[in-house]
Amino acid sequence: MIKFVNYVRSQVKDGNAKPDFESPAAWEDDKFMQPVLEDDALLFSVDELESMAVNGNSSGKQPEEPSESNATDEVSKLKEQLSKLQSQFDVYRTQVSETLEKRWSEAPSKDDGAAEEAKAKRYDQSYFDSYSFNDIHQVMLQDTVRTEAYRDFIYENKNLFAGKVVMDVGCGTGILSMFCAKAGAKQVFAMDNSAIIDKARQIAIENGLDKQITFVRGKVEDLHELPNGYKHVDIIVSEWMGYCLFFENMLPSVFCMRDRFMKRRADGSFDGLMVPSHVSVHLAPLADPDWVSDNITFWNDVYGFDMHCMLEGALDDVVVQHPPAKTVVGSTAQKQPVAMWDLHQASAEDLQFEVPFEVKLDQDVDSLDAWCTWFDTVFSPAPPVAAGAPGRIEPEEQDKLSAQKGAVTFSTSPMTKRTHWQCGTCIIDRKGKGGNKLASGTAIGGVVKFLKDEEGRGLNITASWEAKEAQEQGKQSWAMK
Ligand code: SAH
Repeated sequence: MIKFVNYVRSQVKDGNAKPDFESPAAWEDDKFMQPVLEDDALLFSVDELESMAVNGNSSGKQPEEPSESNATDEVSKLKEQLSKLQSQFDVYRTQVSETLEKRWSEAPSKDDGAAEEAKAKRYDQSYFDSYSFNDIHQVMLQDTVRTEAYRDFIYENKNLFAGKVVMDVGCGTGILSMFCAKAGAKQVFAMDNSAIIDKARQIAIENGLDKQITFVRGKVEDLHELPNGYKHVDIIVSEWMGYCLFFENMLPSVFCMRDRFMKRRADGSFDGLMVPSHVSVHLAPLADPDWVSDNITFWNDVYGFDMHCMLEGALDDVVVQHPPAKTVVGSTAQKQPVAMWDLHQASAEDLQFEVPFEVKLDQDVDSLDAWCTWFDTVFSPAPPVAAGAPGRIEPEEQDKLSAQKGAVTFSTSPMTKRTHWQCGTCIIDRKGKGGNKLASGTAIGGVVKFLKDEEGRGLNITASWEAKEAQEQGKQSWAMK
């Protein structure tokens, strides 16, 4: 019987939907003892049938010798089973083709665009909803490194703000608009698409600043004319920075307002001030054996059980944390950033970047555990450079800019006071094994890349690195979702 089943299976497999059932010689060959299908359920039931036939007769009679009529019975049983299987297969095929048809009919059509648009709208809505609650604003306002940097720059440069027209892109509670109004701005346009703007309006009224500040609710991209008959703004202030600087991807919205409304010179260059004016990204090697043993090697032996599979995918994401300064085990030359932008000149395309880097270890380490990334923000009072200047500038510029009179700079580094952005730690996935010992002075060169993800507000960071004089190299990507 096993041979018969395998014979039928092999015929069907070879495309013969109607095998010859009439001549037993067709399935006599021993090769039909080999199963055609893996785990063939029918073969298991054949075994059962046969063992029932051998052992299962309670009458105590000896099993019957195979006779011609028995064989015919078996063949007709099998025929029945085969036709059952065929009809099951027909049902399956119909279901598959229905599913495919449905999928194809849903595939690129005009409605597809509408569905995509609706999805993008929902995504956008949940982003703005997240800014409608108190807690997120409380966290930002209580981040003194952040808020005091804006306040100090604005109050220490009142001459720049007095009598000027300012736009606050994403005003939240209106704190930056109020700093500007207090510094003497003639008119502040405070814009936000989140419901928080209703609170901001009330706050401005209660602090007697509602004459100077005009609130506009909506996505800034949708604003094509300034209120109160104004055509241009002199200053754009915005706190648009996200985790790892570019998470949330809000900066292009600020550029949109700059390009549309900032005052220009005759040569087309901007004649206004971006606040902040410059930002930079840093990268440093990290070794933190305590963190690794608490969070990584821990899974190798949990009460004697190997649970390392728990880590699958866990190291694919950027970890937001403010690592202890002592875990930073090296730096770039003169601790320079790896990339820097002039916000008067940069465009959205400049924010997707790929740059080479070189760091030197300043101590011996048992293993390079992670790459740590953070950003600095510079508020420069100097007027912007001329038209045509690049958006991405030399990282060495930062020291000069920060040294200007009236300039303010803050950092989100592990070596400075913790901010609500903390740092982006990209843990190297060593698949549960340790890394290589590296000596102080080892140079590690590589390339780091920041790309926004397809959804638009997420970020993907990729690093590849190599220490030429040591056994250390790698490449990995991390997502910030
Ligand atoms: N300026 C405030 C809030 C900063 S948070 C402060 O410093 O405390 C960023 C704000 O920008 C959020 O309230 C968010 O709703 C708003 N925002 C982001 N993108 C926007 C856009 N495209 N249009 C309007 N508002 C936006």
